Amino acid sequence: MRADLLESIKRCAFCPKMCRFACPVARANKDEATIPYGLCTVADLALAEKLDLAEPSVAGLLYACTECRACREYCRVEGVDLVEICRAVRAETVARGIAPEPVARFHQKLQAYHNPYGARARHAHEKVPEFQRAFSRKARVLYYAGCTAAVAQPEIVVAAFRVLERLGVDYTVLPGAWCCGLPALSLGNPGAAQELMAHNLQAIQETGCQVVVSGCPSCVVAFRRDYPEAGFELPVQVLHVSQYLDGLLDASLTGGGPVGRATYHDPCLLGRGLGEYQAPRRLLGRIAGLELAAMAWSHQDSLCCGGGGGLPLTWPTTSRKMGYGLLYQAIATGAQTLVTACPFCKSWLSLAARKSPVRVLDLVEILAPALG
Ligand code: SF4
Ligand code: SF4
Repeated sequence: MRADLLESIKRCAFCPKMCRFACPVARANKDEATIPYGLCTVADLALAEKLDLAEPSVAGLLYACTECRACREYCRVEGVDLVEICRAVRAETVARGIAPEPVARFHQKLQAYHNPYGARARHAHEKVPEFQRAFSRKARVLYYAGCTAAVAQPEIVVAAFRVLERLGVDYTVLPGAWCCGLPALSLGNPGAAQELMAHNLQAIQETGCQVVVSGCPSCVVAFRRDYPEAGFELPVQVLHVSQYLDGLLDASLTGGGPVGRATYHDPCLLGRGLGEYQAPRRLLGRIAGLELAAMAWSHQDSLCCGGGGGLPLTWPTTSRKMGYGLLYQAIATGAQTLVTACPFCKSWLSLAARKSPVRVLDLVEILAPALG
């Protein structure tokens, strides 16, 4: 393992624990083992061979992280990054064949289909007529939907197409796009991630685009941060759809769609990951008749929906509890609509909200009808 990560594991294991109450996974679990220093201490002991990483209960602890980065807002210790630390120890478990069984199955599926949803991805593309359209091969803007929007939330893609067309944007898509690679990195398989990155870099360059626009904050973080770190620098601008549309829209939107009271959930990787809190709020603020109510925890303190970092695979009960915790906050605002800007948040919060009066929508789904 990298020497700087080994050093940061030591620092975290012996620090005063200012992050103690920051971690949403530990709060949902109500335990000390899964707070950030708990994870670091387990990593430290496992690397020193005082705990056996091959023991499922030990390895499993290093998967109790959604990569939400909430601990970074509280941690004042230089160089400690729980995301990097968990990824590195997870990579050891994958390389040694001792990763939790759902993680091993996940990697098999991702490598066979280049998509975390496996065979389901092909069927999904066949069912959505918008995907069958003949896009031109080259365009100024590449809309990269990301696996979750394309497979599990195709209505987000349809809405994004509608918005881009309404604004006269010259855009194209990648037919049968491969996963951006971030889930492979998160779940400890950097080799698989590099294969996906190399393919995507070439496919993106072939479109001749100047801007990659994605509705998935994870894809944007991957393209902007993980690709260059792995030696696959994209020679184009990469923007989240909220950032791209914020630059195009300045008038009041009076077309229609959901109005009344709504609340906005800052997705972890759009907010803490990319530092973007205002663009989605400015866009929502332009919709005539929409009143935006703030949740008790928002912006840098936004709660994680529980769906990131592979947590639904490894800690499913915890992950669901986190979704309910966030939903209760949205209900407390009196909002009828919970808007987010991440397809994975939408999937996970929609599951939590199945029996609630709150409707969960992605940002582009509320902008498309408002544009008329
Ligand atoms: S994450 Fe930061 S604040 Fe928390 S225990 Fe580790 S070093 Fe300390
Ligand atoms: S990134 Fe989020 S889930 Fe992971 S340890 Fe930090 S606060 Fe907990």
